[in-house]
Amino acid sequence: MTDASSLDSSIAVMVVDDDCLVTTLMALLLQELGFDEVTEEASGAGALARLDAGQIPTVLFCDLQMPGMDGVQLIRHLGARHYTGGVILLSGADWRILKSCEAMGRSAGLNMLGVLQKPFESNEIAKLLARINFVQKRTPVQVQPITLDELKGGIARSEITAWYQPQIDVSNRSTVGVEVLARWKHPTRGYIPPLSFITLAEGVGLIDEVLKVVCRDALRQLGQWLASGITVRMSVNLSARNLHDRSLPELLMTWCNDAGVEPTDIVIEITESQVAENMALAQEILSRLRLKGFGLSIDDFGTGYSSLAQLHQLPFTELKVDRAFVHGAAQDARSRAIFESNVMLAQRMGLVSVGEGVETEEDFALAAELGCDMVQGYLFSPAIPAASMSKWLEQRQ
Ligand code: C2E
Ligand code: CA
Ligand code: CA
Repeated sequence: MTDASSLDSSIAVMVVDDDCLVTTLMALLLQELGFDEVTEEASGAGALARLDAGQIPTVLFCDLQMPGMDGVQLIRHLGARHYTGGVILLSGADWRILKSCEAMGRSAGLNMLGVLQKPFESNEIAKLLARINFVQKRTPVQVQPITLDELKGGIARSEITAWYQPQIDVSNRSTVGVEVLARWKHPTRGYIPPLSFITLAEGVGLIDEVLKVVCRDALRQLGQWLASGITVRMSVNLSARNLHDRSLPELLMTWCNDAGVEPTDIVIEITESQVAENMALAQEILSRLRLKGFGLSIDDFGTGYSSLAQLHQLPFTELKVDRAFVHGAAQDARSRAIFESNVMLAQRMGLVSVGEGVETEEDFALAAELGCDMVQGYLFSPAIPAASMSKWLEQRQ
Protein backbone atom coordinates (compact mmCIF):
# COMPACT_ATOMS: atom_id res chain seq x y z
CA MET A 1 0.00 0.00 0.00
CA THR A 2 2.87 2.36 0.61
CA ASP A 3 4.28 1.63 -2.80
CA ALA A 4 4.29 4.96 -4.63
CA SER A 5 3.11 3.36 -7.86
CA SER A 6 -0.18 2.36 -6.19
CA LEU A 7 -1.03 5.98 -5.43
CA ASP A 8 -3.45 7.94 -7.53
CA SER A 9 -1.49 10.75 -9.15
CA SER A 10 -4.59 12.74 -10.16
CA ILE A 11 -4.85 13.84 -6.55
CA ALA A 12 -4.36 17.57 -5.98
CA VAL A 13 -2.28 18.37 -2.92
CA MET A 14 -1.90 21.65 -1.06
CA VAL A 15 0.93 22.21 1.40
CA VAL A 16 0.36 25.02 3.87
CA ASP A 17 3.44 26.02 5.84
CA ASP A 18 5.12 29.36 6.46
CA ASP A 19 8.52 27.71 6.24
CA CYS A 20 9.31 27.73 2.53
CA LEU A 21 12.03 25.15 3.04
CA VAL A 22 9.35 22.74 4.21
CA THR A 23 6.92 23.50 1.39
CA THR A 24 9.68 23.15 -1.20
CA LEU A 25 10.90 19.90 0.33
CA MET A 26 7.35 18.54 0.56
CA ALA A 27 6.64 19.50 -3.04
CA LEU A 28 9.78 17.66 -4.13
CA LEU A 29 8.93 14.57 -2.08
CA LEU A 30 5.38 14.56 -3.39
CA GLN A 31 6.60 14.90 -6.95
CA GLU A 32 8.95 12.01 -6.31
CA LEU A 33 5.91 10.00 -5.23
CA GLY A 34 4.19 10.84 -8.51
CA PHE A 35 1.98 13.77 -7.50
CA ASP A 36 2.38 16.62 -9.93
CA GLU A 37 -0.48 18.83 -8.78
CA VAL A 38 1.10 20.36 -5.69
CA THR A 39 0.26 23.87 -4.49
CA GLU A 40 2.45 25.58 -1.93
CA GLU A 41 0.86 28.11 0.39
CA ALA A 42 2.59 30.12 3.12
CA SER A 43 -0.33 31.02 5.38
CA GLY A 44 -3.61 29.71 6.76
CA ALA A 45 -5.46 32.75 5.46
CA GLY A 46 -3.97 32.22 2.00
CA ALA A 47 -5.06 28.58 2.00
CA LEU A 48 -8.59 29.52 3.00
CA ALA A 49 -8.76 32.18 0.27
CA ARG A 50 -7.75 29.58 -2.31
CA LEU A 51 -10.42 27.19 -1.07
CA ASP A 52 -13.05 29.88 -1.16
CA ALA A 53 -11.96 30.70 -4.70
CA GLY A 54 -12.76 27.09 -5.66
CA GLN A 55 -9.25 25.67 -5.62
CA ILE A 56 -9.99 22.59 -3.56
CA PRO A 57 -7.22 20.09 -2.91
CA THR A 58 -7.88 16.39 -2.42
CA VAL A 59 -5.39 16.41 0.40
CA LEU A 60 -4.22 19.33 2.48
CA PHE A 61 -1.00 19.27 4.50
CA CYS A 62 -1.17 21.81 7.27
CA ASP A 63 1.53 23.17 9.55
CA LEU A 64 0.33 24.01 13.06
CA GLN A 65 2.55 26.95 13.91
CA MET A 66 2.16 29.78 11.43
CA PRO A 67 2.05 33.54 11.92
CA GLY A 68 -1.46 35.01 11.56
CA MET A 69 -4.04 32.23 11.17
CA ASP A 70 -2.37 29.14 12.61
CA GLY A 71 -3.07 25.52 11.75
CA VAL A 72 -5.54 25.03 14.57
CA GLN A 73 -7.62 27.98 13.36
CA LEU A 74 -7.41 26.75 9.79
CA ILE A 75 -8.76 23.36 10.90
CA ARG A 76 -11.71 25.07 12.53
CA HIS A 77 -12.47 27.00 9.32
CA LEU A 78 -12.17 23.84 7.22
CA GLY A 79 -14.63 22.11 9.54
CA ALA A 80 -17.07 25.00 9.29
CA ARG A 81 -16.87 24.76 5.48
CA HIS A 82 -17.47 20.98 5.57
CA TYR A 83 -14.25 20.34 3.70
CA THR A 84 -14.26 16.63 2.85
CA GLY A 85 -10.73 16.27 1.51
CA GLY A 86 -8.02 14.57 3.56
CA VAL A 87 -6.06 16.58 6.11
CA ILE A 88 -2.55 15.75 7.30
CA LEU A 89 -0.97 17.78 10.08
CA LEU A 90 2.72 18.57 10.12
CA SER A 91 4.59 20.14 12.94
CA GLY A 92 7.72 20.12 14.99
CA ALA A 93 5.51 20.36 18.08
CA ASP A 94 5.25 17.69 20.76
CA TRP A 95 3.59 14.50 19.56
CA ARG A 96 0.77 14.92 22.08
CA ILE A 97 -0.07 18.37 20.73
CA LEU A 98 -0.20 16.96 17.23
CA LYS A 99 -2.49 14.15 18.37
CA SER A 100 -4.83 16.50 20.19
CA CYS A 101 -5.06 18.75 17.13
CA GLU A 102 -5.81 15.68 15.04
CA ALA A 103 -8.59 14.76 17.45
CA MET A 104 -9.91 18.30 17.21
CA GLY A 105 -10.04 17.99 13.41
CA ARG A 106 -12.05 14.76 13.75
CA SER A 107 -14.45 16.43 16.16
CA ALA A 108 -14.87 19.20 13.59
CA GLY A 109 -15.95 16.51 11.11
CA LEU A 110 -12.75 16.53 9.05
CA ASN A 111 -11.25 13.55 7.32
CA MET A 112 -7.96 13.47 9.27
CA LEU A 113 -5.52 11.17 7.51
CA GLY A 114 -2.76 11.47 10.07
CA VAL A 115 0.05 13.52 11.52
CA LEU A 116 3.67 13.98 10.53
CA GLN A 117 6.19 15.11 13.06
CA LYS A 118 9.02 17.11 11.53
CA PRO A 119 11.53 16.07 10.36
CA PHE A 120 9.69 13.47 8.27
CA GLU A 121 10.63 11.05 5.54
CA SER A 122 9.03 10.43 2.19
CA ASN A 123 7.89 6.90 3.07
CA GLU A 124 5.84 8.30 5.96
CA ILE A 125 4.12 10.67 3.55
CA ALA A 126 3.51 7.85 1.10
CA LYS A 127 1.90 5.78 3.84
CA LEU A 128 -0.50 8.56 4.75
CA LEU A 129 -1.38 9.31 1.16
CA ALA A 130 -2.12 5.65 0.54
CA ARG A 131 -5.04 5.95 2.93
CA ILE A 132 -6.88 8.20 0.55
CA ASN A 133 -7.08 5.28 -1.83
CA PHE A 134 -9.67 3.85 0.54
CA VAL A 135 -11.48 6.98 1.49
CA GLN A 136 -11.06 9.57 -1.16
CA LYS A 137 -11.75 7.78 -4.40
CA ARG A 138 -15.37 7.32 -3.45
CA THR A 139 -15.68 10.66 -1.75
CA PRO A 140 -15.31 13.60 -4.11
CA VAL A 141 -13.93 16.66 -2.45
CA GLN A 142 -16.39 19.44 -1.82
CA VAL A 143 -16.73 22.41 0.47
CA GLN A 144 -20.29 23.60 -0.05
CA PRO A 145 -22.49 22.77 2.94
CA ILE A 146 -25.43 20.53 2.17
CA THR A 147 -28.77 22.28 2.18
CA LEU A 148 -31.95 21.09 3.83
CA ASP A 149 -33.70 20.80 0.45
CA GLU A 150 -30.90 18.65 -0.87
CA LEU A 151 -31.19 16.36 2.14
CA LYS A 152 -34.97 16.11 1.81
CA GLY A 153 -34.55 15.33 -1.89
CA GLY A 154 -31.90 12.72 -1.16
CA ILE A 155 -34.16 10.94 1.32
CA ALA A 156 -37.20 11.15 -0.98
CA ARG A 157 -35.24 9.75 -3.93
CA SER A 158 -33.76 6.96 -1.75
CA GLU A 159 -30.25 8.10 -2.54
CA ILE A 160 -29.13 7.27 0.99
CA THR A 161 -28.43 3.57 1.26
CA ALA A 162 -26.77 1.05 3.52
CA TRP A 163 -23.17 -0.04 2.96
CA TYR A 164 -21.51 -2.70 5.06
CA GLN A 165 -18.18 -3.17 6.79
CA PRO A 166 -17.21 -6.68 7.92
CA GLN A 167 -16.64 -7.40 11.62
CA ILE A 168 -13.96 -9.99 12.15
CA ASP A 169 -13.62 -12.57 14.92
CA VAL A 170 -10.07 -12.07 16.21
CA SER A 171 -9.61 -15.75 17.12
CA ASN A 172 -10.04 -17.10 13.57
CA ARG A 173 -10.41 -14.11 11.22
CA SER A 174 -13.88 -15.19 10.12
CA THR A 175 -16.53 -12.59 9.35
CA VAL A 176 -19.09 -12.76 12.14
CA GLY A 177 -20.90 -9.51 11.59
CA VAL A 178 -21.39 -6.41 9.48
CA GLU A 179 -21.76 -2.81 10.52
CA VAL A 180 -24.22 -0.77 8.52
CA LEU A 181 -22.77 2.59 7.43
CA ALA A 182 -24.95 5.07 5.57
CA ARG A 183 -23.80 6.35 2.18
CA TRP A 184 -25.45 9.08 0.17
CA LYS A 185 -25.03 8.88 -3.59
CA HIS A 186 -25.72 12.48 -4.45
CA PRO A 187 -26.66 13.17 -8.10
CA THR A 188 -24.00 15.87 -8.60
CA ARG A 189 -21.67 15.70 -5.61
CA GLY A 190 -20.90 12.00 -5.71
CA TYR A 191 -20.68 10.00 -2.50
CA ILE A 192 -21.20 12.11 0.59
CA PRO A 193 -19.86 10.65 3.85
CA PRO A 194 -22.35 10.27 6.72
CA LEU A 195 -20.72 12.83 8.98
CA SER A 196 -21.58 15.50 6.41
CA PHE A 197 -25.31 14.82 6.55
CA ILE A 198 -26.07 12.96 9.81
CA THR A 199 -25.42 16.08 11.89
CA LEU A 200 -27.64 18.11 9.56
CA ALA A 201 -30.36 15.45 9.69
CA GLU A 202 -30.17 15.47 13.49
CA GLY A 203 -30.41 19.24 13.58
CA VAL A 204 -33.45 19.54 11.31
CA GLY A 205 -35.39 16.60 12.69
CA LEU A 206 -34.82 14.25 9.73
CA ILE A 207 -32.74 11.68 11.58
CA ASP A 208 -35.72 9.33 11.99
CA GLU A 209 -36.19 9.42 8.22
CA VAL A 210 -32.53 8.52 7.71
CA LEU A 211 -32.85 5.65 10.19
CA LYS A 212 -35.92 4.37 8.39
CA VAL A 213 -34.32 4.43 4.95
CA VAL A 214 -30.99 2.93 6.02
CA CYS A 215 -32.16 0.48 8.65
CA ARG A 216 -35.05 -1.06 6.72
CA ASP A 217 -32.83 -1.46 3.70
CA ALA A 218 -30.18 -3.16 5.83
CA LEU A 219 -32.60 -5.44 7.71
CA ARG A 220 -34.09 -6.69 4.44
CA GLN A 221 -30.58 -7.43 3.24
CA LEU A 222 -29.83 -9.31 6.46
CA GLY A 223 -33.03 -11.31 5.96
CA GLN A 224 -31.77 -12.34 2.52
CA TRP A 225 -28.33 -13.30 3.83
CA LEU A 226 -29.79 -15.38 6.66
CA ALA A 227 -32.26 -17.05 4.28
CA SER A 228 -29.39 -18.05 2.00
CA GLY A 229 -27.59 -19.74 4.91
CA ILE A 230 -25.10 -16.98 5.72
CA THR A 231 -24.98 -16.45 9.47
CA VAL A 232 -23.95 -12.93 10.44
CA ARG A 233 -25.09 -10.41 12.96
CA MET A 234 -25.73 -6.84 11.98
CA SER A 235 -24.77 -3.64 13.79
CA VAL A 236 -26.82 -0.51 13.15
CA ASN A 237 -25.86 3.03 14.21
CA LEU A 238 -28.51 4.97 16.05
CA SER A 239 -28.23 8.65 16.78
CA ALA A 240 -29.08 9.65 20.32
CA ARG A 241 -31.67 11.87 18.60
CA ASN A 242 -33.47 8.70 17.52
CA LEU A 243 -34.11 8.00 21.21
CA HIS A 244 -36.87 10.56 21.66
CA ASP A 245 -39.78 8.32 20.73
CA ARG A 246 -41.09 5.70 23.17
CA SER A 247 -42.41 3.59 20.29
CA LEU A 248 -38.93 3.03 18.81
CA PRO A 249 -38.67 -0.57 20.18
CA GLU A 250 -42.00 -1.48 18.55
CA LEU A 251 -40.96 0.21 15.30
CA LEU A 252 -37.71 -1.74 15.15
CA MET A 253 -39.58 -4.97 15.97
CA THR A 254 -41.95 -4.33 13.07
CA TRP A 255 -39.04 -3.82 10.70
CA CYS A 256 -37.40 -7.02 11.98
CA ASN A 257 -40.60 -8.98 11.50
CA ASP A 258 -41.07 -7.60 7.98
CA ALA A 259 -37.52 -8.61 7.12
CA GLY A 260 -37.71 -12.01 8.81
CA VAL A 261 -34.87 -11.38 11.24
CA GLU A 262 -34.67 -11.77 15.02
CA PRO A 263 -33.73 -8.88 17.31
CA THR A 264 -30.94 -11.11 18.66
CA ASP A 265 -29.31 -10.81 15.21
CA ILE A 266 -29.09 -7.04 15.66
CA VAL A 267 -26.73 -4.86 17.68
CA ILE A 268 -27.65 -1.23 18.13
CA GLU A 269 -24.68 1.13 18.37
CA ILE A 270 -25.03 4.35 20.32
CA THR A 271 -22.57 7.23 20.68
CA GLU A 272 -22.79 10.77 21.87
CA SER A 273 -23.30 12.58 25.07
CA GLN A 274 -26.78 13.63 23.93
CA VAL A 275 -28.04 10.44 25.52
CA ALA A 276 -27.38 12.17 28.79
CA GLU A 277 -29.77 14.98 27.84
CA ASN A 278 -32.72 12.80 28.56
CA MET A 279 -31.24 9.88 30.44
CA ALA A 280 -34.53 8.61 31.82
CA LEU A 281 -36.08 8.31 28.36
CA ALA A 282 -32.92 6.78 26.88
CA GLN A 283 -32.80 4.24 29.72
CA GLU A 284 -36.43 3.35 29.14
CA ILE A 285 -36.09 2.87 25.38
CA LEU A 286 -32.75 1.07 25.51
CA SER A 287 -33.87 -1.23 28.32
CA ARG A 288 -36.97 -2.19 26.36
CA LEU A 289 -34.85 -2.84 23.28
CA ARG A 290 -32.62 -5.13 25.37
CA LEU A 291 -35.68 -6.93 26.76
CA LYS A 292 -36.78 -7.61 23.20
CA GLY A 293 -33.39 -9.16 22.53
CA PHE A 294 -31.48 -6.45 20.66
CA GLY A 295 -27.78 -6.14 21.51
CA LEU A 296 -26.56 -2.75 22.59
CA SER A 297 -23.12 -1.37 21.86
CA ILE A 298 -21.40 1.70 23.25
CA ASP A 299 -19.66 3.21 20.22
CA ASP A 300 -16.47 5.32 20.07
CA PHE A 301 -15.80 4.39 23.66
CA GLY A 302 -13.38 6.69 25.40
CA THR A 303 -13.76 9.70 23.11
CA GLY A 304 -15.62 11.88 25.53
CA TYR A 305 -18.86 11.32 23.69
CA SER A 306 -19.21 8.01 25.46
CA SER A 307 -18.39 7.98 29.11
CA LEU A 308 -18.04 5.57 31.97
CA ALA A 309 -21.22 7.00 33.45
CA GLN A 310 -23.17 5.90 30.39
CA LEU A 311 -21.60 2.48 30.60
CA HIS A 312 -22.75 2.29 34.17
CA GLN A 313 -26.30 3.46 33.59
CA LEU A 314 -27.28 1.78 30.33
CA PRO A 315 -27.68 -1.95 29.57
CA PHE A 316 -24.81 -2.37 27.08
CA THR A 317 -23.72 -5.77 25.77
CA GLU A 318 -20.74 -4.56 23.75
CA LEU A 319 -17.98 -1.96 23.93
CA LYS A 320 -16.39 -0.52 20.80
CA VAL A 321 -12.93 0.90 21.37
CA ASP A 322 -12.52 4.02 19.28
CA ARG A 323 -10.01 3.82 16.45
CA ALA A 324 -8.02 6.67 18.03
CA PHE A 325 -6.78 4.10 20.58
CA VAL A 326 -6.49 1.16 18.19
CA HIS A 327 -4.73 2.15 15.01
CA GLY A 328 -1.03 2.66 15.70
CA ALA A 329 -1.39 1.66 19.35
CA ALA A 330 1.46 -0.83 19.03
CA GLN A 331 3.84 2.14 18.61
CA ASP A 332 2.12 4.51 21.01
CA ALA A 333 2.29 3.66 24.70
CA ARG A 334 -0.56 5.98 25.64
CA SER A 335 -3.01 4.65 23.02
CA ARG A 336 -2.03 1.13 23.96
CA ALA A 337 -2.71 1.81 27.63
CA ILE A 338 -6.23 3.02 26.80
CA PHE A 339 -6.91 0.18 24.34
CA GLU A 340 -5.71 -2.36 26.89
CA SER A 341 -7.71 -0.97 29.78
CA ASN A 342 -10.85 -0.70 27.62
CA VAL A 343 -10.60 -4.36 26.63
CA MET A 344 -10.09 -5.29 30.29
CA LEU A 345 -13.04 -3.15 31.27
CA ALA A 346 -15.21 -4.93 28.71
CA GLN A 347 -14.05 -8.32 29.99
CA ARG A 348 -14.72 -7.41 33.60
CA MET A 349 -18.19 -6.18 32.73
CA GLY A 350 -19.00 -9.19 30.57
CA LEU A 351 -19.19 -7.16 27.36
CA VAL A 352 -18.05 -8.10 23.88
CA SER A 353 -15.07 -5.93 22.92
CA VAL A 354 -14.70 -4.61 19.38
CA GLY A 355 -11.63 -2.74 18.16
CA GLU A 356 -12.26 -0.18 15.43
CA GLY A 357 -9.79 1.15 12.88
CA VAL A 358 -7.59 -1.93 12.50
CA GLU A 359 -5.59 -0.86 9.47
CA THR A 360 -2.43 -2.96 9.73
CA GLU A 361 -1.34 -6.45 10.75
CA GLU A 362 0.39 -4.78 13.69
CA ASP A 363 -2.93 -3.31 14.87
CA PHE A 364 -4.50 -6.75 14.50
CA ALA A 365 -1.71 -8.51 16.40
CA LEU A 366 -2.10 -6.08 19.28
CA ALA A 367 -5.89 -6.60 19.37
CA ALA A 368 -5.27 -10.36 19.56
CA GLU A 369 -2.63 -9.94 22.26
CA LEU A 370 -4.94 -7.81 24.38
CA GLY A 371 -7.77 -10.32 24.06
CA CYS A 372 -10.10 -8.10 22.04
CA ASP A 373 -12.98 -10.22 20.70
CA MET A 374 -13.72 -8.61 17.36
CA VAL A 375 -12.19 -6.00 15.06
CA GLN A 376 -13.09 -4.00 12.01
CA GLY A 377 -11.00 -1.81 9.78
CA TYR A 378 -9.33 -1.16 6.47
CA LEU A 379 -6.96 -4.11 6.99
CA PHE A 380 -9.95 -6.27 6.11
CA SER A 381 -12.29 -3.98 4.20
CA PRO A 382 -13.81 -0.50 4.20
CA ALA A 383 -17.60 -0.24 3.98
CA ILE A 384 -18.77 -1.72 0.67
CA PRO A 385 -22.13 -1.93 -1.13
CA ALA A 386 -24.55 -4.82 -0.52
CA ALA A 387 -23.64 -6.78 -3.65
CA SER A 388 -19.93 -6.68 -2.81
CA MET A 389 -20.67 -7.67 0.77
CA SER A 390 -22.69 -10.66 -0.43
CA LYS A 391 -19.67 -11.88 -2.39
CA TRP A 392 -17.39 -11.21 0.58
CA LEU A 393 -19.63 -13.24 2.90
CA GLU A 394 -19.91 -16.14 0.48
CA GLN A 395 -16.13 -16.36 0.33
CA ARG A 396 -15.30 -15.66 3.95
CA GLN A 397 -17.60 -17.83 5.98
P1 C2E B 1 -18.66 5.01 13.39
O1 C2E B 1 -19.93 4.35 13.79
O2 C2E B 1 -17.60 5.11 14.41
O3 C2E B 1 -18.18 4.22 12.10
C1 C2E B 1 -16.84 3.93 11.81
C2 C2E B 1 -16.29 4.89 10.80
O4 C2E B 1 -14.90 4.61 10.61
C3 C2E B 1 -16.92 4.75 9.43
O5 C2E B 1 -16.89 6.04 8.83
C4 C2E B 1 -15.95 3.82 8.73
O6 C2E B 1 -16.00 3.92 7.31
C5 C2E B 1 -14.64 4.31 9.26
N1 C2E B 1 -13.65 3.27 9.27
C6 C2E B 1 -13.82 1.93 9.22
N2 C2E B 1 -12.65 1.29 9.27
C7 C2E B 1 -11.70 2.23 9.37
C8 C2E B 1 -10.26 2.19 9.47
O7 C2E B 1 -9.63 1.13 9.48
N3 C2E B 1 -9.62 3.37 9.56
C9 C2E B 1 -10.29 4.57 9.54
N4 C2E B 1 -9.57 5.70 9.61
N5 C2E B 1 -11.64 4.65 9.45
C10 C2E B 1 -12.33 3.49 9.38
P2 C2E B 1 -18.19 6.59 8.09
O8 C2E B 1 -18.86 5.51 7.32
O9 C2E B 1 -17.73 7.81 7.38
O10 C2E B 1 -19.16 6.95 9.27
C11 C2E B 1 -18.86 7.99 10.15
C12 C2E B 1 -19.84 8.02 11.29
O11 C2E B 1 -21.14 8.38 10.84
C13 C2E B 1 -20.01 6.67 11.96
O12 C2E B 1 -18.95 6.50 12.86
C14 C2E B 1 -21.35 6.83 12.61
O13 C2E B 1 -21.22 7.48 13.86
C15 C2E B 1 -22.08 7.75 11.67
N6 C2E B 1 -23.01 6.97 10.87
C16 C2E B 1 -22.77 6.19 9.79
N7 C2E B 1 -23.90 5.65 9.33
C17 C2E B 1 -24.91 6.09 10.14
C18 C2E B 1 -26.32 5.88 10.18
O14 C2E B 1 -26.92 5.14 9.38
N8 C2E B 1 -27.02 6.52 11.18
C19 C2E B 1 -26.38 7.30 12.09
N9 C2E B 1 -27.14 7.90 13.04
N10 C2E B 1 -25.05 7.53 12.07
C20 C2E B 1 -24.33 6.92 11.12
CA1 CA C 1 -20.62 2.63 14.76
CA1 CA D 1 -17.09 4.06 16.24
